[in-house]
Amino acid sequence: MAARIDHDAAELQALRVLSASVGADPLLVQGAGGNTSLKQAGVLWIKASGTWLMNAATADIMVPVALAPLLDAVARKDPAAEKAAAFTLAELNPHQLRPSIETTVHALLPQKVVVHVHCVETIAIAVQANAEAVLEERLRGLDWAFVPYRRPGLPLAQGIAERLKPRTDVLVLGNHGLVVAADTVAEANLLLRRVTGLLARAPRKAPAPDLDALLRLAMGSDYRLPVAVEAHAAATDLASCRIAASGSLYPDHVIFLGIGSVIAGPNENAAAVVARTTAAGQPAPASILFPGKGILMRRDANAGAEAMARCLADVAIRVDPTARVNYLSIEENAELLNWDAEKYRQELNRRAGSVLQ
Ligand SMILES: [Zn+2]
Repeated sequence: MAARIDHDAAELQALRVLSASVGADPLLVQGAGGNTSLKQAGVLWIKASGTWLMNAATADIMVPVALAPLLDAVARKDPAAEKAAAFTLAELNPHQLRPSIETTVHALLPQKVVVHVHCVETIAIAVQANAEAVLEERLRGLDWAFVPYRRPGLPLAQGIAERLKPRTDVLVLGNHGLVVAADTVAEANLLLRRVTGLLARAPRKAPAPDLDALLRLAMGSDYRLPVAVEAHAAATDLASCRIAASGSLYPDHVIFLGIGSVIAGPNENAAAVVARTTAAGQPAPASILFPGKGILMRRDANAGAEAMARCLADVAIRVDPTARVNYLSIEENAELLNWDAEKYRQELNRRAGSVLQ
């Protein structure tokens, strides 16, 4: 008994260390995205909603959830399964953390350790219409499955359940990311590194940003340079800019930066872009792409928005410019923001022709 408790404590500690290392790599996880979990003695330890994996080694970010009642609720299609908060074990959760929205995804997989990342190499393939053919070639010999896009939460868990086979331990989530599962933390780490290595493609080389031009374009506005210099590539690489201009690629982009991307016209500075978007009834965009020059961020953009601006650049520069790209639909964008899709569609028709935020 004591030996098992020691082993369990060591595995949870190993998961925290792996989570912190994964969370510190912006090519694997951005901001509060991604999550990890461990199943032990009927308890699912899962990353708390809104916390950053990067902090897993130093802060209490893992929430204990009663696994069997949660799985029963999923099977009954009980809406309480969606947030999973009703299944947390209060006595083991002193900080009253709320479980990740993706808890049901972790619960459904039979393996003890589950690691879910928004790996840019994976997303860059998972947004291409030919994703399954690319994966077929690169993941040959692995027990992988491709899960077409569903909203994170219960719909995604159900989408996974439809594709899961008994031995599946790698899931590529359309327009979203990667899940790997194993029975130990060490094996999960090895599988994660193996799969991300197999999916890696050489990014295009983006021209350097024109910082002087960007600072001039920011004058008289509430915009500033992004924290990460890498974020500029979404605009300096014209193929990336074209991909970004056509819509939203994955959920966290929509949540932190809004729907799609706002591209400045050839003669527009930041103030002119804001005048244009606000005249169309939209808020000032969190970021603006200036083709060939780089990007500007709204002065109050938070760390999550900064991380997603860089993610857009890191994903788009890896997408094959000749591939057909799947974008989130109007309904998919709207449900991420809890908007009524029909109201949103009418709104779109009303401002037809304007650039979407
Ligand atoms: Zn996710």
